Amino acid sequence: MGKVTGFMEFERLDEGYEPVEKRVKNYKEFVIGLNTEQAKQQGARCMDCGTPFCNNGCPVNNIIPDFNDLVYRGRAEDWKAAIAVLHSTNNFPEFTGRICPAPCEAACTLNVNDDAVGIKSIEHAIIDRAWEEGWVTPRPAKLKTGKTVAVVGSGPAGLAAAQQLARAGHAVTVFEKNDRVGGLLRYGIPDFKMEKSHIDRRVTQMEAEGVVFRTGVLVADLGEGSKVTNWAKESISPEELKSQFDAVLLAGGAEASRDLPVPGRDLQGIHFAMEFLPQQNKVNAGDKLKGQIRADGKHVIVIGGGDTGSDCVGTSNRHGAKSVTQFELMPQPPEVEDRPLTWPYWPIKLRTSSSHEEGCERAFAIATKEFLGEKGKLTGVKTVKVEWSGGKMTEVPGSEQVLKADLVFLAMGFVSPVATILDAFGVAKDARGNAKATTDFTGGYATNVPKVFAAGDMRRGQSLVVWAIREGRQAARAVDEFLMGASELPR
Ligand SMILES: Cc1cc2nc3c(=O)[nH]c(=O)nc-3n(C[C@H](O)[C@H](O)[C@H](O)COP(=O)(O)OP(=O)(O)OC[C@H]3O[C@@H](n4cnc5c(N)ncnc54)[C@H](O)[C@@H]3O)c2cc1C
Ligand code: SF4
Repeated sequence: MGKVTGFMEFERLDEGYEPVEKRVKNYKEFVIGLNTEQAKQQGARCMDCGTPFCNNGCPVNNIIPDFNDLVYRGRAEDWKAAIAVLHSTNNFPEFTGRICPAPCEAACTLNVNDDAVGIKSIEHAIIDRAWEEGWVTPRPAKLKTGKTVAVVGSGPAGLAAAQQLARAGHAVTVFEKNDRVGGLLRYGIPDFKMEKSHIDRRVTQMEAEGVVFRTGVLVADLGEGSKVTNWAKESISPEELKSQFDAVLLAGGAEASRDLPVPGRDLQGIHFAMEFLPQQNKVNAGDKLKGQIRADGKHVIVIGGGDTGSDCVGTSNRHGAKSVTQFELMPQPPEVEDRPLTWPYWPIKLRTSSSHEEGCERAFAIATKEFLGEKGKLTGVKTVKVEWSGGKMTEVPGSEQVLKADLVFLAMGFVSPVATILDAFGVAKDARGNAKATTDFTGGYATNVPKVFAAGDMRRGQSLVVWAIREGRQAARAVDEFLMGASELPR
């Protein structure tokens, strides 16, 4: 609970950023985390509120007041206990401590009429110190069960599930179609938000716990002409997988990007965000790419106002784009939420990311009517302003405009998992095309196909890293129960 009067004595201190001029010159992380003393003071702001809504606001149910209190106490053994508390609910706090939007903070009791406790920055400080001090070590299972599990997909859901299952004593093999482990953490989320060495050291830890990673292996197929990231060199069929393993967990994400089929869509210069972002991740990893999509000196328009769009903005600015404009179909939300109305839930409000701060025009309530071009190449975008009423969108007459554009990135989210993969397994889909499986206590995460389970974005649709970790952990317990009749893994 920190210090009883801490919230009255200390102000919230946010993590710092390297200055824009410096950080846009490279792809390195630029957040300056709290030092031990700062974290201690921020931990002191956690008050004895009695009902920690933060713990419910956090999808993995991190035991936030406990680790805040330990950090406030401040001795090395307290920090060591803090990482044990954090790891009891979250396999990878270094991922969430960097890129989680922190719904816990929206739910913090202090957030009712003050600034929330800086929970995410404290989580970040705990796990970074734990790695530095050598407190994060492999935890191989003492007893092996002799059971085998295949995990399809190495994103946060697949990784969390694999780690939990290996620690329960099962022989786990993770199949990944791309050439490196990590899912969207690796190929999608820019290095400047999360450097990839954080994934690599977890992979080393998991290998020491017995997890086998098979990268470059596509399970089933992606369908003809698919633009989904795929660096597989071989493939394996669902039948082979089912016959070789006692259980299969599908954690392949929701990779089918939403398209914008307006006139001119086939002009050169229009790409899905997920064609652009993974290429830069690869280049940062030292790979040589032929014909990388580059934004240098170009007028860039990003269609889609969310996280993925913001990542395209940050990457385009690092390339040296001439101008970057981001479109959002919805109207501009309020800058400050009405807390009595929204607390403890996640409020809709204007969110300005670090990438926006680096330089970007933002246009709200704007729709794209047509892509314009010359000789097959994109030269501009025709837009129209829109109005929203009762959930319905109408175009504002006479508000059409043409904007110059050399590059367009489509970042309007993902419609669903790739259907051909689910179809190849015979897995039933829900109305949105996701793998159909409940999260119920008994029988949760099981699909209609015997011994085949599903978790993460592949089951819930596009979401967040923290939700993927939750689903991976819970699915691991479901698989363990299925294999052993009972499970001691936490839910
Ligand atoms: C650009 C971008 C930025 C984002 N930023 C954030 C953020 O800042 N914070 C946040 O919380 N969330 C963010 N998200 C969302 C977050 O990354 C996802 O919700 C999360 O990664 C989902 O995890 P997952 O394990 O379910 O799937 P994924 O991370 O998508 O991993 C699935 C993996 O399965 C592999 N795979 C799929 N099919 C097969 C197959 N048939 N055979 C073999 N391998 C297969 C894929 O190659 C992939 O590696 C972002 C998403 C994107 C696209
Ligand atoms: S994982 Fe996300 S929601 Fe949970 S405590 Fe950390 S920052 Fe908050």
